Amino acid sequence: MITNNYFELGFFPTPLHRLNRLSEHYSDYNIYIKRDDQTGLALGGNKTRKLEYLVKDAIDKGCDTLITYGAAQSNHCRQTAAAAAIAGLGCHLLLKGSATPELNGNILLDKLLGANIHWTEQPEGLLTPEELIKRVKLSGKKPYYIPIGGSNEIGSLGYARAVLELKQQLFENILDIDYIIFSSSSGGTHAGLLVGKYLYNLSSEIIGISNGKDEMGKTPLGQQIVDIANKVAALLKFDKLFTLDDVILNSDYNSAGYGVVTRAEVDALHLLAQKEGIILDPVYTGRAFVGLIDCLEKGNFKKGSNILFWHTGGAPANFHYAKQLV
Ligand SMILES: *Cc1c(COP(=O)(O)O)cnc(C)c1O
Repeated sequence: MITNNYFELGFFPTPLHRLNRLSEHYSDYNIYIKRDDQTGLALGGNKTRKLEYLVKDAIDKGCDTLITYGAAQSNHCRQTAAAAAIAGLGCHLLLKGSATPELNGNILLDKLLGANIHWTEQPEGLLTPEELIKRVKLSGKKPYYIPIGGSNEIGSLGYARAVLELKQQLFENILDIDYIIFSSSSGGTHAGLLVGKYLYNLSSEIIGISNGKDEMGKTPLGQQIVDIANKVAALLKFDKLFTLDDVILNSDYNSAGYGVVTRAEVDALHLLAQKEGIILDPVYTGRAFVGLIDCLEKGNFKKGSNILFWHTGGAPANFHYAKQLV
């Protein structure tokens, strides 16, 4: 089975537990959490699961350097740098924007992890991933390019396998989950969970909360999820064609745009921290939690249902956003 072909980077299974005080507060529901903020790999997060497959693929292809791309405070870039360190590979990160003197949150960790940092905005123009790949090749290295968020059919295998892990935990706890809520951004987590749902017969509804607006001229997130899911299914020789009808993507909470912290995210961070002692992040999980709380308050879930919030990590970014959070 291709899902057994990975390079071990994380601590699995991640804990699954009930949020007792939050469930008391929303007493019509039982709310649980899956702790992918505790996957290990330089402070954890959902990219650990994807990188286990991406790093294996890089090694199998004889590559010696990982290159990836993301926002300045990208959790994916930080975890890629850590994965490269563990696997003994070089690492180049292309971060959006221009060089900043800031040494905080994920950027600080990228540096500690020894990554080579490049900025897209250069005095002579825009540095693209393609150009960076070319330069790294010219320096005599054999780079392996990981797309933004590690979201392709290789990375998503990690979240297809995560469904099997969840199924085992539900079986052991004699538990059924009606809804799974999580932050969806570059689509790889969502696509993997969707494939896993059908592959392993998980009954839960998979509900992604979109954390950024679709960009003009780019494939909308829902379609990206469908495309990745179909590629994962093909890789697994799993005979199912996914369409937009299979994707539940709630875009009600992203109007402020990617990485813009509003009062709602700040309140969500304080709520979970002060009810359960769990730290969210302001960009992804904070926004997804805003969605969860809003749906609970509006009564969008059926009464008495079991709801799982899948925590995808991101806590290091809190230090970058510190002034906006308290
Ligand atoms: C990358 C990331 C996500 C989104 O996952 P995708 O697979 O890109 O949709 C959610 N939460 C955190 C903390 C992330 O770093």
